[in-house]
Amino acid sequence: MAIPTENVGSLPRPARLQQMIAAYDAGRVGFEELAAEQDAACKDSIERMEATGAPIVSDGEQRASSFATYPITDTLAGTGLADNLAADGQYFAIFDDGHHRQLPRLTGGPFRYKTFASDYLAKSLPYASKPMKQAVIAPSMLSLLYPLDEELDGYPREQFLNDLCDEAERDIRQAFATGAARVSIDFTEGRLAAKNDPRNPWTGRHMLEQFVELNNRVIDRFSAAERVNLGVHTCPGGDMDSVHSADVDYAELLPSMFKMNAGYFLMQLASEQDKERVYRLVGEHSRDDANGVPQVCFIGVIDPLNPTVESPDQVAEDLVTAARYIPTDRLGATDDCGFSPFSIDNKPKHGSPDFARDVAFRKIAARVQGTDIASERLGL
Ligand SMILES: [Zn+2]
Repeated sequence: MAIPTENVGSLPRPARLQQMIAAYDAGRVGFEELAAEQDAACKDSIERMEATGAPIVSDGEQRASSFATYPITDTLAGTGLADNLAADGQYFAIFDDGHHRQLPRLTGGPFRYKTFASDYLAKSLPYASKPMKQAVIAPSMLSLLYPLDEELDGYPREQFLNDLCDEAERDIRQAFATGAARVSIDFTEGRLAAKNDPRNPWTGRHMLEQFVELNNRVIDRFSAAERVNLGVHTCPGGDMDSVHSADVDYAELLPSMFKMNAGYFLMQLASEQDKERVYRLVGEHSRDDANGVPQVCFIGVIDPLNPTVESPDQVAEDLVTAARYIPTDRLGATDDCGFSPFSIDNKPKHGSPDFARDVAFRKIAARVQGTDIASERLGL
């Protein structure tokens, strides 16, 4: 069987859309005008992704405030924040270029999503002629909404985590029910959990194991047949063309990460210093039986933070090398990350988000072509 290939989810929002979001935040335009711009960006994203030859596509998350905050706020500036949340939560991440992203803070219970990924998917599906995937956020990320040390009055942490798992399960089930062929769970906080950055307290609390357990509380609610199409994405971050945890050794993440009983993993690898070493680690720690499903390892062959477009040959070479360490029936190809996980992202290394979109589609085409070449070279 040929090597499967799948993107992570996001694309840069066109400059026009980013300007419209700012106008909406400032009260200069209404939601209908914003929604029309989002619809146009989703349609364009799907059509152009389909034109790359990709077998499965996404809408580029053009309606989402970010990969992490779509369930709880309409825009990154906090317009349309869900109930029981305040804007001033802890840092999710401090990136290598010095910028940071902050989460909202839970002020009380109950915790409820106001938007589900399926709400966006339902609007985008009519634009697609190929199968669509949908990314969702991991419960482990949203667990950081709860204060790190205090207990909230009348809403104990355990009750919050129960509510969170119910919402995360519903997010995934509804995405499948709406028509997603595949659902991947964004887990960028996994690698960051081993960072121990003194400026960002939660990264020094050894939370990786509890993140994995929490995510498994949700993943294990799905049958083996469902989990074949339920994935997990790991990366060192990808925002404003910068990363937050590339300095954390994969050896610290992988043994824990593969304990999650997901059927596939989308893993940053193109931008890794020593790829071959990580391929070996992936081969060693991934499981051919995770409670009834083999863990298919999609290795990153495209770097969305670098404007230089990879050649199909380079992509094929990476996959052929990886096949020395990962069985070919559990090998796939992906991008290192979404191309713009946050809605407001000027893609500084690219010069503009519109140019970064053009580059993204060329990169996706290179991934698709290179994956075909690799399948041929490996006789699959
Ligand atoms: Zn990512």
